[in-house]
Parts: sequence; C-alpha cells; structure tokens
Amino acid sequence: MFIKGIVFRIESKDIYILPDNSDEVIRASLRGKFKKDFHLKKDKQYITDIVVVGDRVGFELNKDGTGIIEKIDKRKNYLSRKAPRLKGASYRGERLEQIIASNIDKLIIVASVYDPSFNNKTIDRFLVAAESSSIKPVIVINKIDLDDDNRIKDFASLYSDIGYSTILTSCINMQNIEEVKNLLEGNVSILWGQSGVGKSSLLNLIYPGLNLETGEVSVSTSKGKHTTVTVSMHKINEDTFIVDTPGIREIDPYGIKKEDLSHYFIDFLPFINNCKYNTCTHNHEPLCAVEEAVINGFISEERYDSYLRLLDTIEDDILF
Ligand code: GDP
Ligand code: ZN
Repeated sequence: MFIKGIVFRIESKDIYILPDNSDEVIRASLRGKFKKDFHLKKDKQYITDIVVVGDRVGFELNKDGTGIIEKIDKRKNYLSRKAPRLKGASYRGERLEQIIASNIDKLIIVASVYDPSFNNKTIDRFLVAAESSSIKPVIVINKIDLDDDNRIKDFASLYSDIGYSTILTSCINMQNIEEVKNLLEGNVSILWGQSGVGKSSLLNLIYPGLNLETGEVSVSTSKGKHTTVTVSMHKINEDTFIVDTPGIREIDPYGIKKEDLSHYFIDFLPFINNCKYNTCTHNHEPLCAVEEAVINGFISEERYDSYLRLLDTIEDDILF
C-alpha cells in the first residue's frame, strides 16, 4: 500500500508532497517508469506535464525520508496554457501545452478597475480557459475604490447577467472581502490575473498568516531568469488550498479548435445549434444564429467582439 498525498509544490525538478496524514512536506521523485513516458514526449520538456501541483499521488518512503512516486491518480480537471516558446523545441513555431495545476475547484479571475486598467478581453480569455478545463470560474474586480465614474458596474452586470458570480472588492475599504473568503473556503482555488491587480493583497486580508509579498514585484528566482516554473500550494485548513503561480501571468488557452471556441462562451450556448452550418464559427457566415442574437441584443457586442478576437488568435496547436 502506498502512502497517499497531494503534490504541493514543484520547483524545477523537485516535487514536494503533502501527505494526507501529516503536515510534513516530503520531497519526492518519480519512479523511473514515468520518466520513460517523459522521454517519449521530450518536446514537452516540462516535468510538470507528468506530475503537477494538485495531483493526488501514491508514494513510498525511502530510508532517507524522501519519497518516490509510484502512482498518479486520474485528474478531475487541469488548467493548462500554451507554453511559452521553448528554446530548441524541434517544431517550427508551434506551441506546446503546459499543464499548470490539477484538481481545481475554482478559478478566481482577478481584475482591477485601474492600475492595471480594467480589461474585459483579458477576463474573457480567462473564462475560456476555465470553461474549457471544466473549472468553475468566479470574477473578482478589485480596487473598486478607484471606480469614480462608475464604469465598472456595467461590466460587472454583463458577467453576472450571463451567470457568472462577480464580486466587486476593495482592499482599501474592505468591501466584499468576506464574500471572497466564502468562495475560497472548502475549495482548491487558483487566483489568476495580471500582476498588480491585488491578488496578494486580497489573500493577505483574508488569511493574514500567509504573509504574501505585495507591490510591483517582478518575479525572478534565485537561479536567475531561467524559465523554471514554480507552482505551489498554500494549505489554509484541512480542505482549503490556494494554488500560487508566481510568474505565470498570461494564459493562452491551449488546444481549442476554431469551431469549438463558442462552446466556452456560455452566453452563446443557447444559439449555437441554430446556425445553418454545423461547422459555423459565427464569423459572418450566412444564417448564423449567434450573429443574429448579437443583432437582437441577446448576446452583448462586447462579448462577441472578444470572441472574434480570440477566434483570430487560435493557432493550430499540436495535439499529442
Ligand atoms: P498582485 O500582483 O495581483 O498580487 O497585486 P498586489 O496585491 O501586490 O497589489 C498591487 C498594488 O495594488 C499594491 O500596491 C497594493 O497596495 C494595491 N492594491 C491592492 N488592492 C487594492 C485596492 O483594493 N485598492 C487600491 N486602491 N489599491 C490596491
Ligand atoms: Zn453561427
């Protein structure tokens, strides 16, 4: 029988496991059989593709107290993105999938009113990433204390009208901080958003013990500007975890075909089966029910515009 645990942190090639039955994190490596798999997919270069933060694993203890991973449970879901271009990848310009974390209950998309300026296109991209990974997204718009002209409320209702929970917060006057806490409790969550929107500030208010660094921190590891991806978890209590992904700010959804993109725009779903052509990409094809819904005001122009832009950027990904 293997000891069970959760992959808690990955730093370069070191894997750290939090066992179910103790709070002592164990450094572990993978049994060689997994690595064989790894070599087959050499172009993926990231060890995180075999085991990622959030994975449930079975492991054995070595005499020196380190662990060896024998079994990786099937993932409920996982969040991935197009990997940044790798030096020396043998493919010409195509981009590979990078898995960031698995078994996530909530993707909390954090944006801010100003500084950095509010950008609904970015939110829409995150929403596609969440929907295509089967992770429940929630939208938090922070720094609402800076919304002097009440511009953001309309955007917020755009999202709440189509069914997304949308919370307006301020770390300055403590607005709706408790609501965000309620979202996190009992879940494995990832907070995602541009640098500077206030993710660390929010978490520090909710869980003062975390003591996260705030401010315009540019992330570079002690090893310099190497493309090492470090992902780690914070354990808040027995069933509340926060996945931290410093240095991963951008997310280009991976592996979505043009004709499938509209499946991840939940406000389009009632219409997509009524288009004349079942391969319709809703990009000015004749008799498109989505375009008609935009004209008739059932789908917002903002969202449709986001959709068209994303459609434009979708490349033909490599699928293994
Ligand atoms: P992160 O990069 O997303 O983790 O952002 P930080 O938490 O480091 O915050 C970036 C900056 O925004 C810091 O200077 C914070 O003090 C500031 N900030 C965070 N939340 C708020 C807020 O609700 N209102 C205002 N006005 N500033 C905030
Ligand atoms: Zn259509």
